[in-house]
Amino acid sequence: MRVLVTGGTGMVGSSFAEEKSSHELILVGSKQYDLRSWHDTQLMMMNIIPDVVIHLAARVGGVKGNTDFVADFFSENINMNTNVLQASKEFGVKKVVSLLSTCVYPDKVNYPLTEDQVHNGPPHLSNFGYAYSKRMLDVQSKALRQQYGCNFICAIPNNLYGPHDNFDLENGHVIPAIIRKIWEAKQTGVAPIFWSDGSALREFTYAPDLSRILLHLLNEYNDPEPVNIGIAEERSIASVVDLVCKNLEYNGLVSWDESKPAGQYRKPSSNGKLISTGWDPSSYTAFEIGLKKTCDWFIENYPNVRGME
Ligand code: NAP
Repeated sequence: MRVLVTGGTGMVGSSFAEEKSSHELILVGSKQYDLRSWHDTQLMMMNIIPDVVIHLAARVGGVKGNTDFVADFFSENINMNTNVLQASKEFGVKKVVSLLSTCVYPDKVNYPLTEDQVHNGPPHLSNFGYAYSKRMLDVQSKALRQQYGCNFICAIPNNLYGPHDNFDLENGHVIPAIIRKIWEAKQTGVAPIFWSDGSALREFTYAPDLSRILLHLLNEYNDPEPVNIGIAEERSIASVVDLVCKNLEYNGLVSWDESKPAGQYRKPSSNGKLISTGWDPSSYTAFEIGLKKTCDWFIENYPNVRGME
């Protein structure tokens, strides 16, 4: 089977490059085809003629990027998603697996996050452009299924981390920011400052696990409703900082600025539906191992990592 992976040059896409699959995996990035363009998207389909598509391409960022560029996050993602789904339908692609994110769930929601709640209220104001564009992936997949019988499904990861992440301090996510701040503190001797008191709990899934999970869904999941795919295991931010200090052998001070907001105390998600499809939860990479591998990758590649520009 020819599997086209959009976003193949990103953090999640990189996991497919190392995947030993019986399928033929074709990874593409924005330099080959700009998926905001209908012309490029059609060209990609004509050149590759995929049987199935794993659609990872997106404009992704942290809280600041999502807020400062809210309109760009909305329109770029809407355009990419609409083009990829529409072209997949027109080129007779048998199945599309697209990614949403747990951060597109409503701001006021019942925990744990379950898939039936995705559209039950507005998302957090800080990322409403990204969140609505992602929710529309779910809407369009269902509409194409209903009218044209397309087997298009959506998967919902929680916070991802791993090699090839974006280490930009303003526009990246929490784990790469912690790693970079502690590494740079080790070089400069100036204590890193983290927001709030570190007690907030979050779930972190190792991004390289996603290739196995998404290929599993390709075989095992054909339901119109989306499916949560992240690890259901909470960690405090303070415990992540401690582990990173250990991995990077940083023994200096760490400061917590408690005048800064912590965000929601916890955001647990349920992965019960994924497990019911036969996914073994013990095959997620353990957090300590994933974090160690990520830190080792960072040390090996710094300063040539994304987000240093
Ligand atoms: P990433 O590292 O930023 O990679 C984004 C990918 O999208 C890159 O391959 C990039 O290509 C491609 N892309 C961006 N704009 C494009 C365009 N105009 N045309 C074609 N390709 C374009 O992101 P990621 O973390 O791997 O995220 C992958 C997916 O997981 C996304 O759908 C994201 O929403 C979802 N997700 C991520 C997280 C997370 O914590 N990172 C959490 C939940 C869900 P180039 O590099 O070649 O520009």
